[in-house]
Amino acid sequence: MKALRYLGPKQALALQEVPVPEPKAGEVRVKVAASGLCHTELHFQSGLLDIGVHGVTMGHEAVGHIDAVGPGVDGARIGERVIVYYYFGCGVCEACRRGDEQICAAPRAQFGFVSDGGDAEYLTCPARNAVVLPAGISDVEAAPIGCAVTTAVHASKLAEAQPEEWVVVYGIGGVGLALVQLAKSRGQRVIAIGRDPRKLALAKELGAEYTLSPIGIDVATTVGSRVDSIAPVPDLPTRIKALTGGGADVIYECVGSRETMDTALASLGKRGRLVMIGYSEASLTVHPIQLIVHEQKVLGSVGATLQDLHEAIDLVARGVVRNPIARTVKLEAHEEALAALAAGDVVGKIVFVP
Ligand SMILES: [Zn+2]
Ligand SMILES: [Zn+2]
Repeated sequence: MKALRYLGPKQALALQEVPVPEPKAGEVRVKVAASGLCHTELHFQSGLLDIGVHGVTMGHEAVGHIDAVGPGVDGARIGERVIVYYYFGCGVCEACRRGDEQICAAPRAQFGFVSDGGDAEYLTCPARNAVVLPAGISDVEAAPIGCAVTTAVHASKLAEAQPEEWVVVYGIGGVGLALVQLAKSRGQRVIAIGRDPRKLALAKELGAEYTLSPIGIDVATTVGSRVDSIAPVPDLPTRIKALTGGGADVIYECVGSRETMDTALASLGKRGRLVMIGYSEASLTVHPIQLIVHEQKVLGSVGATLQDLHEAIDLVARGVVRNPIARTVKLEAHEEALAALAAGDVVGKIVFVP
């Protein structure tokens, strides 16, 4: 079968022919119908993220049907439509005992990271990692639940954002779009920041009260997807402090560049929480006196728990969160898809359909 493989740092992801995997004891095999493309794949390709396992199939947003089960798994599961939870913790450490498999130090598997993931025709995973999807969500629309929506659900818990609080979503990719909708649904006031007017218009449509761009397009008065005013925004922190009456309560940083981190830190209000989700090669730099005198917090959020995945599925099933799809592509077209994502030229999600 075809599989999109990570071969090592600074090597292009490559489509290779590999054997169809057989489910081992306790496992199911999923015939993949849709697999979302995430920025993580770009980080593997650039060498920024290297967990040390080379020769692994990418893809941690996989949806499909169970077509075979290993010993010890109920054959009645064959035919189920599932989404794959991509962590499989050690099960015995304190984090795992709490359900926080995403921070387990010795995971047994992590699909699309150190274990073969969903950018292929089939993948195998423990039966408990294959979570049944309700009807009413298409395979393609379900795929981004696996990382984009679950990451948003998890980060929102760590941020402890409250109704009426001002939430800034910096970066309008898959996670950012889910965060905008989640915050809006909880009665929070949302400011979305991005460079692409098309993404800003989509964020507005999905619930952002204000949309700002660091490159001089201010669509704060956008009606629907129509841009009514274009004015320069020379100083985003000043604008955000004016809009929020002193600074944001929560900032979800989904980009992680020097410029965006500096802007986020300068836009944070008293007792504000800066939640790091995106990253680049740049380091976060802040003088402690800023955090001290404003009692601010900086925290990181990685992945999601199995419980977060169940909540994310429910949010999408109820229509609280939508997953806008930019396009579906064949695995053979991965180079073009990765290039478009790297260029920031993808509005919504790209989903592979093998
Ligand atoms: Zn991801
Ligand atoms: Zn563990």
